[in-house]
Amino acid sequence: MNLLRFGSVGPQVELLQLALQREGALREAPDGIFGARTRAAVTGFQRRRGLAADGIVGKETWQALTPWLTGFRTVTIRHGDTFYKLAVRWGVSLRSVETANPGVDPLNLQPGQKLVLPLPFEVVPTTIRFTSTVLAFCMQGLAARYPFLDTDSAGQSVLGRPLSLLRFGRGRNAVFFNASHHANEWITTPLLLRFLERLCAAFAAGQAVGGVNAGELAERSTLCLLPLVNPDGVDLVTGELTTEDRAYGEALAMNGGQAGFPENWKANIRGVDLNLQYPAGWEDARRIKFSQGYTKPGPRDYVGSAPLTEPESRAVYDYSLRNPFDLTLSYHTQGQVIYWKYDGFDPPDSERIGRRLAALSGYALERTPEESAYAGYKDWFIQQFDRPGYTVEAGLGTAPLPLSRFEEIYRANEPLLAYAMIATAR
Ligand SMILES: [Zn+2]
Repeated sequence: MNLLRFGSVGPQVELLQLALQREGALREAPDGIFGARTRAAVTGFQRRRGLAADGIVGKETWQALTPWLTGFRTVTIRHGDTFYKLAVRWGVSLRSVETANPGVDPLNLQPGQKLVLPLPFEVVPTTIRFTSTVLAFCMQGLAARYPFLDTDSAGQSVLGRPLSLLRFGRGRNAVFFNASHHANEWITTPLLLRFLERLCAAFAAGQAVGGVNAGELAERSTLCLLPLVNPDGVDLVTGELTTEDRAYGEALAMNGGQAGFPENWKANIRGVDLNLQYPAGWEDARRIKFSQGYTKPGPRDYVGSAPLTEPESRAVYDYSLRNPFDLTLSYHTQGQVIYWKYDGFDPPDSERIGRRLAALSGYALERTPEESAYAGYKDWFIQQFDRPGYTVEAGLGTAPLPLSRFEEIYRANEPLLAYAMIATAR
């Protein structure tokens, strides 16, 4: 993590303030600037931890704050400790301690033994801008708190960021949910991660999520989640990449003076639209987008020089070929609409399941408009496997949708996501 000084701005300051709020050092509402209130909170935290209390956030302070970003800490058992005592001492539920330490015999704890202690808040932040750094903390935290989750990577982005994967469940029915092919639609990333976290918590507690028992979901299905298909583009939009980064300057040059940089950026960091890269009517997509004037790398709608030239879409394609899923959802914003069709294909049950997804979310079920009817992930998935694949356009408004809409968008999608996990299960 970067060194932050008084007066700094950007997503790392939001992350810092989130950690300080969760830890209790910052009680007032943060304002996104490393200002006087945040400085006082940092200095107070540093004093309590015996760190140099100079108000500057360097490596040591970030390290000390990490548990409030990942949502867990590692504790060493002392003589006489029990799960119950630890839970009381840290203000967390006994179940969360048991869930995070499945191989440990609670009646036979040994002094010196290490335990994972979940902290009393949800890992996935939904009040700060999302970045690849935030995702890395979520991956670490969710994996530690819910050891039944598998984590993996489907490949790397242009800038070398991992295309992180999470896998839940052990059922034969395999489904794949992905988000943020488009950079300025990044609100879909915390949307899917929030669902996964609620799913895991419900599974551990023997409860339901989105109206379906989580144990049943785990038994019948395996959910593979790729929450951030376009990490570089998202980092550009949310401010993780700054004017000091070469990639920022190159994107700015490709943007060609168009308004709204970087927040209107949809493409990957090389200016290629990742959802116009799949080999399903790619030539048609090219013809349509070229006729609209999108003939070279830029913020949106450039199809690339050929299908699958970009490592992100190539990785999603390869991953899907290795794992022939029964159903897929690709999350975008916006429109409150679900697209289910590709060309003349009519996968078995696809329209019926689509109607149910629409009823559960209150979204409309529609055919894709002609100008965006080709070369998307769902188009290729349907063509390749002849199985149900959907694009969900979440929320209403102009991308990037504000986080103030997050809870409302999540509520609409939770039952849809739970049902999509078992819609094709037999
Ligand atoms: Zn999109």
